[in-house]
Amino acid sequence: MTRITLVEGDITEQQVDAVVNAANSSLLGGGGVDGAIHRKGGPQILEECRRLRASQYGRGLRTGQAVATTAGDLPARWVIHTVGPVYLVEEYGERAELLASCYRESLRVAVELGARTVAFPAVSAGVYGWPPAGAARIALGTVAEVTADPGFGGGLEEARFVLFGRETYEVFEDVGRELGSTGRE
Ligand code: ADP
Repeated sequence: MTRITLVEGDITEQQVDAVVNAANSSLLGGGGVDGAIHRKGGPQILEECRRLRASQYGRGLRTGQAVATTAGDLPARWVIHTVGPVYLVEEYGERAELLASCYRESLRVAVELGARTVAFPAVSAGVYGWPPAGAARIALGTVAEVTADPGFGGGLEEARFVLFGRETYEVFEDVGRELGSTGRE
């Protein structure tokens, strides 16, 4: 069974097999966690993203999808890039489904890679404007649901949410308690 854990910290410092990046569809870098990953991971990640753009992702990565590259100089082995939806209350249902898809697809890629540990940021909860509690409910709910499925294989031992700042960490902690999804062995 996959453990779901929460830590407050910087995702670029995590000793895990794969870190998930809240990328944008260009795959060519941006601000927030994306900027931090490219800065600390070095030019190799961007180089691989450019190659992806030149091959099967000519038009960029679609919202809700995920794709892996090397992790360059990060302690992790892979970066799994996913594109979260921008928050838009008028299209909440559709966009919530896309945010859930980011976690589902990232987990699918992690299993494909053979990762035992994967770290997630709070996708869409920064510049893309998702209210933190809603983002946490979708994040924790989806990861709990996917990893609890008996058909979910791959030996993923830990899905770690790395929350940047005390406030976001506490929101995830409250939601995790509410859903009963964290601290699960
Ligand atoms: P998005 O565009 O998907 O909203 P952001 O990078 O703007 O992505 O923000 C997503 C979340 O990642 C926010 O909660 C932000 O505080 C957080 N974040 C920013 N830098 C880091 C980091 N180095 N490690 C972990 N989380 C980070």
